Amino acid sequence: MTWGIIGTWRMVHDGLVAASKMLQENKRVGDAIEECVKAVEDYPYYKSVGYGGLPNEEGILEMDAAFMDGDTFEIGGVAGIVDAKNPVSVARALSKQKFNSFRVGEGATKFARLAGFECGNMLTERARRTWELRLDEVKKNNLNPYDGHDTVGVIGLDLSGSMAVATSSSGLFMKKAGRVGDSPLSGSGFYVDSEIGGATATGLGEDLMKGCLSYEIVRLMGEGLSPQAAADKAVYGFHHKLRKRYGKAGAFSLICMNLKGEWGVATNVDFTFSVANESAAPAIYFAKMGQNDTTVIEPITEEWLAAYEKRIKQPIE
Ligand code: ASP
Repeated sequence: MTWGIIGTWRMVHDGLVAASKMLQENKRVGDAIEECVKAVEDYPYYKSVGYGGLPNEEGILEMDAAFMDGDTFEIGGVAGIVDAKNPVSVARALSKQKFNSFRVGEGATKFARLAGFECGNMLTERARRTWELRLDEVKKNNLNPYDGHDTVGVIGLDLSGSMAVATSSSGLFMKKAGRVGDSPLSGSGFYVDSEIGGATATGLGEDLMKGCLSYEIVRLMGEGLSPQAAADKAVYGFHHKLRKRYGKAGAFSLICMNLKGEWGVATNVDFTFSVANESAAPAIYFAKMGQNDTTVIEPITEEWLAAYEKRIKQPIE
């Protein structure tokens, strides 16, 4: 038996390092990926997940999250939840419920409070100020307000052969109240089957939902494709289809892992991710779309990491 873990964006890396140790020590995959996502939710400088996430148009931080167990297919999700310190833990708790396992808005927040999850203000001063400045900019320059969004999505495999996936996101910056992306939606934002593998997505939820790409990648792996071949086929196939039929394709990036800990990635933008398995220590990579529907994957450079660190902490006027 082997283990593995893969997650979206550079922001997942520190949590993934800790989670990979848990998996090596024979801990259960659900616990490892929950801890990994919580580390991202708790970090105030990641502006699209949990504490420090950017709010909706009205200045309210509404968050989406999900958890899926690949052994049992149990799924829990929250959408538009406010004030919950760790939406992923709320989603995981909901996954244990036979009914009412996907809660939205006030119902989700009420569940979190009643179930004893830590709650409080999740909007940092930095995020509030960024919102205020964006409101001004949008008014003055008639900008597309929705830049600035990413989801943390993590797929894990433990030494007993169980797999699970979790996501967490504050969705699109400046979204309309009640807007929900793909991240808490099964099949679009995530999917996992321990007998095959799992996949998860980040990018423009409105377009990701059109293709149910996480499910499609798992389905293709189930037909025998390698994770990389499944990711390339699903992502670039849908990218072309969407451009042809809908006129354009929003940004999207997907990662996947199979039951052997082998992984794949495909993206139509510049994308970073972190991955570890029995034969490779945790490392951050950079991916972009290559020629002929393939993906170019390279290790991240020290320069890139230093610039990233500086960018996320740069002072807001
Ligand atoms: N998929 C997320 C959403 O649409 C955002 C992102 O991952 O960039 O809410």
